[in-house]
Amino acid sequence: MSKDALANANYYFNRASKILGLTDDVAVQLRTPHREVKVECTVRMDDGSIGTFVGYRVQHDNARGPFKGGLRYHHEVDEQEVTALAQLMTWKTAVVGVPFGGAKGGIQVDTTKLSDDEMQRMTRRFVDGIYEVIGDKTDIPAPDMYTNSQVMAWIFDQYANYRGYTPGVVTGKPVELGGSLGRGSATGRGCLYACENLLESVGESMEGKRVIVQGFGNVGSWAARLFEEQGAKVVGIADISGGYYNPEGIDLNAAMKEVATDRSLEGFKGGERISGEAILVQDCDILIPAALGGVITKDVAKDVQAKIIVEGANGPTTPDADEVFEKRGVHVIPDIYANAGGVTVSYFEWAQNMQNFYWDEDRVNDELRRIMKKSWGELHGISKSRNIPLRMAAYVLGVGRVDQATSLRGV
Ligand code: NAD
Repeated sequence: MSKDALANANYYFNRASKILGLTDDVAVQLRTPHREVKVECTVRMDDGSIGTFVGYRVQHDNARGPFKGGLRYHHEVDEQEVTALAQLMTWKTAVVGVPFGGAKGGIQVDTTKLSDDEMQRMTRRFVDGIYEVIGDKTDIPAPDMYTNSQVMAWIFDQYANYRGYTPGVVTGKPVELGGSLGRGSATGRGCLYACENLLESVGESMEGKRVIVQGFGNVGSWAARLFEEQGAKVVGIADISGGYYNPEGIDLNAAMKEVATDRSLEGFKGGERISGEAILVQDCDILIPAALGGVITKDVAKDVQAKIIVEGANGPTTPDADEVFEKRGVHVIPDIYANAGGVTVSYFEWAQNMQNFYWDEDRVNDELRRIMKKSWGELHGISKSRNIPLRMAAYVLGVGRVDQATSLRGV
């Protein structure tokens, strides 16, 4: 899957660079990652044995600002997947116009097998391996799958051992340590704003729309609650334990309670139990993949009933699935725009850290809405004027901006 992730990222980049008329040498320059770091994270496990985990940080591009991107703890993490995700970050920060480049990190580990203490020791060893290449003006990690504000707090603390108090070295921190209000909900909220912008452009509203969300972690659970708040009905949710479908509507409070006690939806009784994959093809209007990449293949796409896909996850749709959606007239709001709310509010957090001046939550949400609206106008305009799908329009916008910055800086 991870090999495919990189092939898919390159596929879209190559198409965008053709549309933009980039020469081959420039395309190679933009596509090639700036730096790839691979580190050993060896820790003493609780039972006295030695655990060795491999961690990665890939810094793809910094023409527009410091490298920026999440840190993922997952057993499928490898160099190619991290490289693909780093490249997506470069285009994403450019699509929403925040002054960052793109990076991504990860450790190949199954966190369900680690205690909190083991996870903390592993995170600190990872920082020991990468502290020389991160920093508030060089590269700023953030949460991604199976990392959270606590992991960011450990990174912040371990980095301080080397460089002193530097809150801007990491975003998605707890508010008590300089995190931003509204960062927890930001990616799900960005998905909501993205979808509202699309609905407005096709003359529809959120009221009564039936929504399915795959993934019930940070992105998925917030998206579900925020869509519901705006009048949608969530009829299906899924996580690692499986899918839960209920055409009458899922009780999201009960689902949240289940996750709070068991760390997963296992045991949730509020819907018909189906597989995590089958949830993607149940009857609904809006589908929000918010878990892993590569889940919507060509075969799945044929059976998807939603008319709108909001890509909360990174790379959930394969290129051949995209073609199916295009033929069927399904709107795909692409990851590099749909889930950019996270990095946008990370930018606000970083700006607050640099100024030591903190905003209230309404300001965070208002600024996020404004940025999502502005970049929607830009990418929707490109989609209409060039008659290309939203994903290609987003790539043309993002790659075009990075190309401009790169050429202004010179070789
Ligand atoms: P998370 O760790 O908080 O949650 C992940 C969720 O996915 C969990 O509910 C987990 O049970 C579920 N899951 C895992 N494997 C699954 C499977 N095989 N089938 C169904 N569900 C499965 O992670 P997150 O931060 O919510 O990230 C989710 C996605 O959103 C990732 O693709 C990530 O790259 C992307 N994303 C996250 C952010 C952010 O700010 N956290 C920003 C942009 C994009």
